[in-house]
Amino acid sequence: PYAGPPADEVLQKRKTFLGPSLFHYYQKPLNIVEGKMQYLFDDTGKRYLDAFAGIVTVSCGHCHPEILHAVMEQSQLLQHATTIYLNHQIADFAEALASKMPGNLKVVYFVNSGTEANELAMLMARLYSGNLGMIALRNAYHGGSAGTMGLTALNTWKYSIPQGEIHHVVNPDPYRGVFGSDASAYAKDVQDHIDFGTPGKVAGFIAETIQGVGGAVELAPGYLKRVYEIVRKAGGVCIADEVQTGFGRTGDYYWGFETQGVIPDIVTMAKGIGNGLPLGAVVTTPEIANVLAQRIQFNTFGGNPVCSAGGHAVLKVIDKERRQEHCSEVGLHLLGRLRSLQEKYELIGDVRGRGLMVGIELVTDRELKTPAKAETGVIFEKLRELGVLVGKGGLHGNVFRIKPPMCFTKADADFLADAMDYAVSKL
Ligand code: PMP
Repeated sequence: PYAGPPADEVLQKRKTFLGPSLFHYYQKPLNIVEGKMQYLFDDTGKRYLDAFAGIVTVSCGHCHPEILHAVMEQSQLLQHATTIYLNHQIADFAEALASKMPGNLKVVYFVNSGTEANELAMLMARLYSGNLGMIALRNAYHGGSAGTMGLTALNTWKYSIPQGEIHHVVNPDPYRGVFGSDASAYAKDVQDHIDFGTPGKVAGFIAETIQGVGGAVELAPGYLKRVYEIVRKAGGVCIADEVQTGFGRTGDYYWGFETQGVIPDIVTMAKGIGNGLPLGAVVTTPEIANVLAQRIQFNTFGGNPVCSAGGHAVLKVIDKERRQEHCSEVGLHLLGRLRSLQEKYELIGDVRGRGLMVGIELVTDRELKTPAKAETGVIFEKLRELGVLVGKGGLHGNVFRIKPPMCFTKADADFLADAMDYAVSKL
């Protein structure tokens, strides 16, 4: 493959000319120069099985030929003119995306990232409800802008600036949460925040349907149904952040919120929607969308022809290649293999997830659930050596996040599980 400049040179330039908040994985950072479907290649030509997909972004596969073709064809015709002129790409893409949504979720706003999508969703919630307060979950990640940083509830991602009126409720985490899997106890905490910490009215509630950055944490079953009812009674709208969970990744359903049997009022998307293109979207009802008609809501690049052509191609590829069913099958197989490892090693405290959105939490003591931070780091490096790239997450950095491109096969899952087995055995 293509080689490019060596890692040391790139790292030096990055240190000199890019902001110091950039971080990198691995003691000796990886220099990735090429990607093909579920594989990445470094500057030495070494191939890696990619089980993190550029942070759950490369949904269909690196440089997927059909998506690439759609992007290149549109790039040669017209790259940009903004939405002040008509162009069929954005309209066709919006129609296709709306057709994937349940209920009355039929109006699309395109943006460029997940942060922008959540920022816009929060604006709509506040305008529509006439209230200010937002409710979010502890352990959530919703973005890094001034507004969305407020929604995010992990101290590692928060700077000390004003973050608006946000209430962070107890996380309905079946593994670590104080109420176990008792959805009604967690829902009661939402009601308590409304009763004691607000004027009795809120703008809205936002949650990832499986927490991503927080370490692939699935919400206690039945939680969203109860909370949506409470929030709507308090005048708020319910927002589902599908930035990581959408587009069939969870296997049984196209959207993560469907696993909880709810229909949100606003859905936000990014990452997988573009298979690597900078693209995000907010989908809502005509009624809520209308609150932005009072003023101009404008986004120069949102839904530009190239990103729209690419995003539309993503939707088609997911259907044509039956990726949702595939995620379900491969995910079950992967979870099965990982649960066998959990029986073999005390260190593996929890294996969780759905489809190809999987978390492995490492603990030094299963009773106390003491985070095995150092062990996670050692295994992480070993996996890289063996040619497998996974993500890390959770507040304590002790959760492996397995979220590969959706073309990941059962054989890939076996390779990953074998590598994990070997790496843990060598601790
Ligand atoms: N929501 C979730 C669930 C995310 O995981 C992320 C990014 N990790 C965001 C929002 C923010 O997306 P972006 O980085 O594209 O702004």
